Amino acid sequence: MKVLVPVKRVVDYNVKVRVKSDNTGVDIANVKMSMNPFDEIAVEEAVRLKEKGVATEVIAVSCGVQQCQETLRTAMAIGADRAILVQTDEELQPLAVAKLLKALVDKEQPGLVILGKQAIDDDCNQTGQMLAALADLPQATFASKVEVEAASGASAKGQAKVTREVDGGLETLEVSLPAVVTTDLRLNEPRYVTLPNIMKAKKKQLDTVKPEDLGVDVKPRLKTLKVTEPAKRGAGVKVPDVATLVQKLKTEAKVI
Ligand code: AMP
Repeated sequence: MKVLVPVKRVVDYNVKVRVKSDNTGVDIANVKMSMNPFDEIAVEEAVRLKEKGVATEVIAVSCGVQQCQETLRTAMAIGADRAILVQTDEELQPLAVAKLLKALVDKEQPGLVILGKQAIDDDCNQTGQMLAALADLPQATFASKVEVEAASGASAKGQAKVTREVDGGLETLEVSLPAVVTTDLRLNEPRYVTLPNIMKAKKKQLDTVKPEDLGVDVKPRLKTLKVTEPAKRGAGVKVPDVATLVQKLKTEAKVI
């Protein structure tokens, strides 16, 4: 069974982003970029499936600018076997990415597509769900545990049990393969990328295609009207005793 893992290049989660002065978006010039953390978890899970002998090949795919190659090399250093870059300078929105991934699903016929539940830059939480709908595949989102029973070899058949953290407990679903699974934070802890593996990843196969080659129009459909900073928090006050605190909560904050 092949596993396809979409990975997005995003602003590193440690960076404190700034809104551009004209409020058109966030300034990403000269900012550290990394793999979306949920996607790192997805790559780790796919590589573990390969190590268990369940997956036969792990293919990482990223859609975006040429520098996404670095993200793909990181995925291959974690253990992905090969990578595909769908290269475009166009701003990609989730529907466009889902269409590109659908075209790659048709081509590669994976048994499992495992992707992040959410990209930390746009916070859309849409791509996996849209892909499942476009490719007419079952989906299990926000996975905190994935157990796959795949048919042997390159076959995309089998089933997966996916545990999801829901309000008040854990829900376990069974989906037949091929399927789309999106990862939650507690699914696993991705391994550290070692230098020898970074060197090995440089020799792995990285193919580049264009959206036109896949027959997909990726022009943005949504227009961002405005991006603004969150309101600044006011300074706190120190109160001398509990009675004053309770009185202030009642009369000033009006929360009790
Ligand atoms: P989103 O729907 O934008 O929150 O993204 C959810 C997931 O879709 C991400 O965690 C990635 O796995 C995948 N994804 C989104 N955009 C891209 C992209 N440009 N290239 C590859 N994968 C992507």
